[in-house]
Amino acid sequence: MSVSTSISNKGILIQYDYCTGCHACEVACKKELDLPKGEFGIKVMEYGPAKTRNDRWDNFFLPAITDHCNLCQNRLDAGKLPACVHNCQAKVMEYGDVEELAKKMTYIKKCVLFSPGDKE
Ligand code: SF4
Ligand code: SF4
Repeated sequence: MSVSTSISNKGILIQYDYCTGCHACEVACKKELDLPKGEFGIKVMEYGPAKTRNDRWDNFFLPAITDHCNLCQNRLDAGKLPACVHNCQAKVMEYGDVEELAKKMTYIKKCVLFSPGDKE
């Protein structure tokens, strides 16, 4: 009998300030979920270049995780990391317990924390 890994208290922390916009996470996810054209489990968005309040320039990428994401349940059950985390060369994505990841957010400049929660 296989025991399914519970993902309700798991998540992915993305330090998007260091995201290079390479789209490797997006490509790996599409392959993992076998999604059709136009649908994504994670989609890399871009902001800028745009001026900030201080007359500086802002330009960054923000990988946004969608409702297709199941945190790569099959990979987790096999003891592997989610495909997006595994394929991020810049190492800006971290998988783990939501509470532990949330603690890290207090000392990271720009980051987002995704968790699928209990949704079905
Ligand atoms: S955890 Fe898996 S399903 Fe979720 S965004 Fe990453 S690659 Fe896609
Ligand atoms: S693989 Fe990493 S660096 Fe590349 S777009 Fe995704 S989050 Fe950003």
